[in-house]
Amino acid sequence: MGVRENLMRLRGSVPDGVVLVAVSKFHPLESLREAYDAGQRVFGESRANELCTKAVAMPDDVQWHFIGHLQTNKVRQILPHVSLIHSIDSERLLRLVNAEAARLGRKVSVLLQLHVAQEETKFGFTPDELLAIMSQSLIDELSNVEIAGVMGMASNVDDEERIRNDFRLIRSAFDSLRSTVFYNRPEFRIVSMGMSHDWNIAVAEGADMIRVGTTIFGEREY
Ligand SMILES: *Cc1c(COP(=O)(O)O)cnc(C)c1O
Repeated sequence: MGVRENLMRLRGSVPDGVVLVAVSKFHPLESLREAYDAGQRVFGESRANELCTKAVAMPDDVQWHFIGHLQTNKVRQILPHVSLIHSIDSERLLRLVNAEAARLGRKVSVLLQLHVAQEETKFGFTPDELLAIMSQSLIDELSNVEIAGVMGMASNVDDEERIRNDFRLIRSAFDSLRSTVFYNRPEFRIVSMGMSHDWNIAVAEGADMIRVGTTIFGEREY
């Protein structure tokens, strides 16, 4: 199966209104071009160097999303290229992105990464941490970031109920934030969750942005 066919089939099953981020990390430019030619414009990358190399090689109307762990020393490098950073996992990083965006005289959209899965990455805020950190004054202070929502991953398990429960935790943290500190901020609107193997559960639990790699591009060769 080619990238175009994979993408067409996937688009046929993703509901309208759910933004599909094509996760192209580790895949060659020719695969990205195939997706682009099939109409895909939103691409996700998880490494700064790779995102920048691909961004200069691909057409200007691609929207690049950074989805991996963002090291503080890479912020300056990616900012000119990204339209959305999914992976803000500390207050320090949030402040740094704001400062760098101010330096460039732009505003950058970001998502706050939630950690609800029990294993693997330790990156991200727990729902309680996030609710404790976010305040009107912090949001007002960081005027060069647009906090557009949250991102999260479910546990990497086969147990569907467990996955579903993780997505519910992410969604409910989003709802809590939206009805409190973000109640008057319509830009806080995105729940990014769901990957190749679990995006349909994520959508059922309220995702409006999904990040899909393998189903579109095939297995990655690391
Ligand atoms: C790699 C990656 C994805 C895509 O994973 P697939 O299983 O290939 O769909 C989604 N989100 C994040 C944060 C990733 O790092």
